[in-house]
Amino acid sequence: MEPADVLAGLDPEQREVAQAVRGPVCVLAGAGTGKTRAITHRIAYAVHSGAVEATGVLAVTFTTRAAGELRQRLRALGVPGVQARTFHAAALRQLTYFWPRVIGGDPPAVIESKLPLLRTVCRSVGREAAQAEPRDLAAEIEWAKAGQIYPEDYAEAVKKIGRTPPVPAEEMVRVYEAYEALRRERHLLDFETILELTAALITEHGEVAAQVRQQYRHFVVDEYQDVNPLQKLLLDTWLGDRDDLCVVGDPNQTIYSFTGATSHYLTGFPVEHPGATVIKLVRDYRSTPQVVALANRVLEVARSPHRLSLVAQRPDGPEPAFTEYADEAAEAAGVARAVRALADRGVPLRETAVLFRVNAQSQAYEQAFAEAGIPYLVRGADRFFERPEVRKAVVLLRGAARSAGAGDDLAPAVHHILSGIGLTPEPPAGGRAREEWESLRALAELAEDLAARGAGLPGFVAELERRAAEQHAPEVEGVTLASLHAAKGLEWDAVFLVGVTEGMLPIVHAKTPEQIEEERRLLYVGVTRARVHLAVSWALVRSPGGRPRRPSRFLDGLTGRPARVRASAPAPRERRTVAATVSCRVCGKTLAAAAEQKLGRCAACPVDYDEALLERLKAWRAAAAKEAKVPSYVVFTDVTL
Ligand code: ATP
Ligand code: MG
Repeated sequence: MEPADVLAGLDPEQREVAQAVRGPVCVLAGAGTGKTRAITHRIAYAVHSGAVEATGVLAVTFTTRAAGELRQRLRALGVPGVQARTFHAAALRQLTYFWPRVIGGDPPAVIESKLPLLRTVCRSVGREAAQAEPRDLAAEIEWAKAGQIYPEDYAEAVKKIGRTPPVPAEEMVRVYEAYEALRRERHLLDFETILELTAALITEHGEVAAQVRQQYRHFVVDEYQDVNPLQKLLLDTWLGDRDDLCVVGDPNQTIYSFTGATSHYLTGFPVEHPGATVIKLVRDYRSTPQVVALANRVLEVARSPHRLSLVAQRPDGPEPAFTEYADEAAEAAGVARAVRALADRGVPLRETAVLFRVNAQSQAYEQAFAEAGIPYLVRGADRFFERPEVRKAVVLLRGAARSAGAGDDLAPAVHHILSGIGLTPEPPAGGRAREEWESLRALAELAEDLAARGAGLPGFVAELERRAAEQHAPEVEGVTLASLHAAKGLEWDAVFLVGVTEGMLPIVHAKTPEQIEEERRLLYVGVTRARVHLAVSWALVRSPGGRPRRPSRFLDGLTGRPARVRASAPAPRERRTVAATVSCRVCGKTLAAAAEQKLGRCAACPVDYDEALLERLKAWRAAAAKEAKVPSYVVFTDVTL
């Protein structure tokens, strides 16, 4: 392939990127403007024009999948042999190679999770740590290590930035120290240590530095807005005193701050590298003008300091749809129907994605798609019934079901079992910990629903096994279910952004203005994944009778023109209406209320009836469901209390 062929199909600014074959180069641009395409073509152009050798290029991407795609696209452009890896994969490769040669012996084993070690150390470190969620402690250690904050500096560092540790800072220091001591003693590497040790090997051993720098001479980093201090350290170490580095990113897509990532490296690049070529891209090649308009509005409302408004290039498409559903099952069923309708109109299932904030939200969609016979795949996370915490829970529940009496009360029994493996009353702070909790919470809510229909523990376990078996059906191609974090950099013809409620997006534990803005950036990432069809939806309760939810605050100002708000069609299940009469236990009067969640308070007396009422409502619902003899969805209207 001739260099000129590589430039065909690029716009003038993208060409500028491709032709700037030597760094430092910085591309700061919004979603869908062709950053990833521009760096791919830049590498191909540089190789074809003879400016660099393919084997001297190290391209760093954020996910293994993105690295694979980059290699594939380079092969298609006639450039095999470029190393495209994640930071971890690139570092681990170097560490594994140099360790026996420099340190001697085998390199330590890599651990995927810090939890087993933390469970061991927490018991001996202090009272608060023993009671804390090991997953919160793991997330805190990850944050500290990614920020190169060592145990001795930890207390001062969190005080300085006003960060609240999961346990008092002094105790957190002891946990951190004990964790590191045990990890070393057992000769283990966690993800952060892989990066840290690789950087140290290069810095401290001249012969390692010489070899690494001789091999890699040209560096390219995609998604640079989400680089954390440890990754930056490694990158600086690879570079040494050279600056043949090209970075691309979008500060409005920083979504990994909770791991210590910061967009300052991207926005500060021209200052750190004086004389750098800085190129901005503004044409959006991915999405229709309607989707682009919505993405621009998300940024306007956010008052983002980075004015990277997008200019749409594609022809008109449909307006984004905004839909409100009664509950999560209705939302999932509605999305499944819409996916089917789009497929009938020619949108392939592999070009359709359902995106949500936490992985546990996938369960309702896995269920709805299984019921509708729509194949799907879950990206970036195990499918619900394959997640370690769910598998563990099912094993425990199965064991309990064998010894259960069907008189055992299902919901409390399930709560008791799940509380033994991490279902705390309040969710943990974030990251994987939060996702595991959400999975367990989803199981508990399913148990509550089935209990209301009169099921016992064996019935519940049978239902879980039925669902698990259905969802294990092999699929070759299907709708993508992914968290917003896992959707980064990707695109589909049709995108369904689901569960857009307060508590989910923004997630309940996002409290500070910075955390809320990061949640808003997740919405921006979600919106900008759609090429043509975009549907945003939310449900007013998770399951019937559950706690009410409000649509996300981020939708304010977005759902007006040109977007449309419409009520959802009723769920395709049997609906029954149950009326009952209750009188106030204090004054004896009968009172009326329209919806279950509004019940609970006598208008005349200062008495809260929440719990008692909900118990009675659950009993009525169970009775009504039993009588209906089909899975039913019971609506209480005109209930009198
Ligand atoms: P993100 O910020 O989401 O990672 P990005 O800036 O990396 O987005 P790309 O994924 O490179 O954007 O490009 C978005 C889409 O636009 C891709 O389908 C790409 O092939 C297409 N595209 C990019 N540039 C052009 C162009 N000049 N002509 C036609 N299509 C283009
Ligand atoms: Mg990209």
